[in-house]
Amino acid sequence: MSDAQFHETITICDECDFVNRIPLLQAGERFRCQHCDHVLVSVHQHVSARIMGAGLSSLLMFALAMSFPFLGFSTNGIERSVSLFTTLHLLLSQGYLVLGAIISLTLFVFPIIYLLSVLFLVWSFRQPKENILRVIQRYSLRWVTVIQPWLMVDVFLVGVLVALVKMSSLADISFELSFWAFCGYVILLLKTVVLVDKRWFWNQFSGGQATNFIVLEEKAKGQGLLGCHFCGETQTVDTKHCDRCGHSVYSRRPNSVNTTVALLVASLVMYIPANVFPIMQTTFLGSTDPSTIMGGVLLLWSLGSYPVALIILIASVVIPLAKVLALSWLCWQAYFPSNQQTEQKIKLYRITEFVGRWSMIDVFVVTILTSLVQMGNFMSILPGPAVLSFTAVIILTMLAAMTFDPKLLWDKEDRPSVSTLERGKE
Ligand SMILES: [Zn+2]
Ligand SMILES: [Zn+2]
Repeated sequence: MSDAQFHETITICDECDFVNRIPLLQAGERFRCQHCDHVLVSVHQHVSARIMGAGLSSLLMFALAMSFPFLGFSTNGIERSVSLFTTLHLLLSQGYLVLGAIISLTLFVFPIIYLLSVLFLVWSFRQPKENILRVIQRYSLRWVTVIQPWLMVDVFLVGVLVALVKMSSLADISFELSFWAFCGYVILLLKTVVLVDKRWFWNQFSGGQATNFIVLEEKAKGQGLLGCHFCGETQTVDTKHCDRCGHSVYSRRPNSVNTTVALLVASLVMYIPANVFPIMQTTFLGSTDPSTIMGGVLLLWSLGSYPVALIILIASVVIPLAKVLALSWLCWQAYFPSNQQTEQKIKLYRITEFVGRWSMIDVFVVTILTSLVQMGNFMSILPGPAVLSFTAVIILTMLAAMTFDPKLLWDKEDRPSVSTLERGKE
């Protein structure tokens, strides 16, 4: 089967539960849900070759990024340079095990597993379909889907730039070789992520076999069908586990609203220590000065670094709160469904899902400053107790967005569909 085609004839939208008939898609075409306009499949041109190119180059850049110094730091005649490896080693040796684990997973372990899995899959789709190969393919595809939201290399890069602005009045900071390699790693990894289309990958896994159901172009629930949220396969409503990916399937996520609300309450509880306790402790000439998230924003503002102060304020204070409020309102709307302004509610849901991980900027800033500024009593920076509670806020709100089932918002909606096949978009 050619990698330039997509052979499934029907698929159910992840966001609105509408059954879509898909024409045979060629390279460069994408198909949007005919009910809610959500992009369901993108068949990229020369996708296998492009993923191979971007993925392998990203791995090469990663190897370079780990091999040389990352940032240089000099003040009052004292010079210091750190590599990414020493950053991790320092966190772990000082007892910040959880922070070290989060940095290792989001910057190194998850991205490398992701890249290796994607490269293996693209290679293995061209091989004869042995049973053992299919088992590994299925696990790799499941990993790719689960890991993707937790890749945070781009957020870390913004964190590095914010840390440099924070330190610019106290020291000279230089970019070393590994920094540029890390930029290449981030860009190529993001390029790979853009090329990975969930439905296209699962279609390649199933060898292009199309599901045969007699369907109407309306909600799946009313026709006794459901779409696997994990791989997009169409199943009958009495199915417990997906035939293709093996994941448990459901028409609507069980206890979606209750789980989301519980996670939101937990994140609000953690939001209090995250803002009350210091997130960073700076020692300068023997005296230690703890600073909270808001304290850091006000300091940056008073020093005239307005854009950076605003970035931290939005990422660390506004986004987590806005996310909790938006998801709470969406839960209310899902609990008492109405057929008004569903498109706006879905847009709000997509935004909350997209922005969540950007709150990690402040955690990365503290990590970078901790590794960079270690000069004993003269000047040193250590993470404060709020780092862990703040990280918990971000993880809990991300999980809350993931457990919310947007199909609940459409359950009262009833409107005609539009045909939206887009050709030659790339
Ligand atoms: Zn839809
Ligand atoms: Zn599935």
